[in-house]
Amino acid sequence: MFHPMHLLLFYTLYYLCLKKNMRLLTVGSVAFDAIETPFGKTDKIIGGAGTFIALSSSFFNRDQRIVAVVGDDFPTDMIETLKSKGVDTEGLQIRKGEKTFFWSGRYHNDMNSRETLVTELNVLGDFDPIIPSSYQGTPYLMLGNLSPQVQSTVIERLNVRPKLIAMDTMNFWMDIAMDDLSKTMSMVDLLIINDEEARQLSKEYSLVKAAKAIRAMGPKYLIIKKGEHGALLFHGEKVFFAPALPLEDVFDPTGAGDTFAGGFMGYIAATDDTSFENMKRAIIAGSALASFCVEKFGTERLLEITREDVDARIEQFVALTDFNMGHHSSI
Ligand code: AMP
Repeated sequence: MFHPMHLLLFYTLYYLCLKKNMRLLTVGSVAFDAIETPFGKTDKIIGGAGTFIALSSSFFNRDQRIVAVVGDDFPTDMIETLKSKGVDTEGLQIRKGEKTFFWSGRYHNDMNSRETLVTELNVLGDFDPIIPSSYQGTPYLMLGNLSPQVQSTVIERLNVRPKLIAMDTMNFWMDIAMDDLSKTMSMVDLLIINDEEARQLSKEYSLVKAAKAIRAMGPKYLIIKKGEHGALLFHGEKVFFAPALPLEDVFDPTGAGDTFAGGFMGYIAATDDTSFENMKRAIIAGSALASFCVEKFGTERLLEITREDVDARIEQFVALTDFNMGHHSSI
């Protein structure tokens, strides 16, 4: 027999399922980029840390949310593309009559050094990260590269602390907002930065010493990306190293770091497992996605690959470091 309590129970279960599925919240720039590499040059194309993170994460976790801001010059078809990949865009503010953040950069012959040509903050200049009430309770948070003050505001506005809070940052914020950055770092679980940034932040050249100094600033977990030389994960006394796939050509490295972070957090959110062992798998997942990102300009490659392509590349990573020491103990 029907009882109103049944309906209440059904809706409670339905709501809980929905909530469980909505696993990752990303905050980050959604932008226009113009890129110059030794292989060519683009006009304004779509970029932004938040875009790369959300696209990359969608290969593992199709239930995600984004808090970001664009102007009304941002193409609606890209917003539709994000939605089609499971990204809830209620938190994406579209400001009428204003312009989207624009960044332009040039890479030199070795592709390791990059020069910023233009940074036009536009809508990012006074970004107030409003968290829609439907986003409260999201279990995983990825803070893409943004002002550390915006990053800490997001954490403060969440009613429930996520199971894992990860953040990215860059030299720019170390130079102009170190106090804000220290505060934000003390609030997160995982910091994802590159080797150059780790050295600047810690004032240590040795990455092992740098990792110790940075973890004393707050994050229990630290990932140091070393570009074409892979990535290191530090936690307690444990260290894990993941290689990068040796690629014949790196076409455009823009967004590779964000793509790595998106793949990592998408994998963690989808598996709902923050153990060190699972983080190792997530690093390989993030590295596989980053290796695709650099094959074409901007988000182009991430938009054409499939989950099967990603899985096949993960297998290549596994094969890359798979070896058997045989009978060495009898030597
Ligand atoms: P990555 O190559 O991983 O460092 O990220 C490149 C992306 O970061 C580009 O798509 C830019 O739009 C974005 N970006 C560059 N500078 C900033 C900044 N100051 N704040 C937010 N996003 C930025």
